[in-house]
Amino acid sequence: MIKIGYNNSSKHYGSIWHYEKPERVEFCIEMLKREFGNKYFVCTNTDTDPNQLIGLVRLVHSNEYVEKMKNFESNIFICRGCNKKNSFAYWNKKTFMEAIEEKSDCIGCDEELNVDNIYTFASIDTYYTYHTFNIALEAIGVVRDLLDLMVIPKNKYSFALIRPPGHHCNNDPNGFCVFNNVYVGAKYAQTIGFEKVLILDVDFHHGDGTQRLIEANPDPNISFVSIHGFGEVIYPGTGSKSNPDLNILNIPLEMSKDSESRIYITDEFYQEILNSQVFPFVSNKDPDLILVSLGFDAHKDDPLEGMNITDLTYLYLVSKLKQLEKPVMFVLEGGYNIKTIARVVPKMIKLLE
Ligand SMILES: [Zn+2]
Ligand SMILES: [Zn+2]
Repeated sequence: MIKIGYNNSSKHYGSIWHYEKPERVEFCIEMLKREFGNKYFVCTNTDTDPNQLIGLVRLVHSNEYVEKMKNFESNIFICRGCNKKNSFAYWNKKTFMEAIEEKSDCIGCDEELNVDNIYTFASIDTYYTYHTFNIALEAIGVVRDLLDLMVIPKNKYSFALIRPPGHHCNNDPNGFCVFNNVYVGAKYAQTIGFEKVLILDVDFHHGDGTQRLIEANPDPNISFVSIHGFGEVIYPGTGSKSNPDLNILNIPLEMSKDSESRIYITDEFYQEILNSQVFPFVSNKDPDLILVSLGFDAHKDDPLEGMNITDLTYLYLVSKLKQLEKPVMFVLEGGYNIKTIARVVPKMIKLLE
């Protein structure tokens, strides 16, 4: 059986033009419900005490980091409607509540400012709202609840359609990521009987946060393989070397930002890499559970990045994973064409049925 979980992330937003937006998941869920009804959906986070979820996050992230995110303070607060910074008077950092208490109307559009229409940045590229902390905790809760269901062998496959994404996060928010969902999942899975866990990262970008967490906390039972774009102007600029001692295999695909250089990374090319490098590594590690950091930004239709691969490669990946007959959880990372996500995820699920 397949299980799908998601968190309501509509109040985790940046500017209305930001690529990483709630519709990425919302439209996909709409399409899944159209295709499968409620068949595979599970309710997650029912009656969960937030402290339990904080406990899970602390399996991976420092106490200091969690506290900083929980009581987030900033001196820049931005109106979502007009994108105007309402920050001129703030010499000292303030919480969201303090900020709206001090400043009631936007200087740009005269809208009344409240916790549902302002945001700030937790890093140069990671926006943050009043609701982000709880939404990020609920994302962790989705991963936990799906893993709990996967202890039953018939529940072999699951999809965590969650936001914010996680694979760039170590103990810093980065690249739109707040908590490292997939790595928390790996650590939690080990506590419920999945001894050997493998993380397979197919997002366009290197999962630098995941790798750094592994490096900081070596565990012979966690392995990591990442295929990613790599080059001078490619974010985050890491992932050029593997580290066999730490069970890390990086497969950087050299490219620049122009469309010319992505042309050669075709479906055939990518699938050949899956066959010659990724799946031999996976078989060799013989994991009890595979967690896929599933990014759709490698797809050729992605507005932000993109290689030259199509739906076919995502489906090929699924068929290869299916052949292994191991439990697999897909955890959403990047991918910014909402139509691509909403089209490919249902196809993947069809293939696993
Ligand atoms: Zn405004
Ligand atoms: Zn990405």
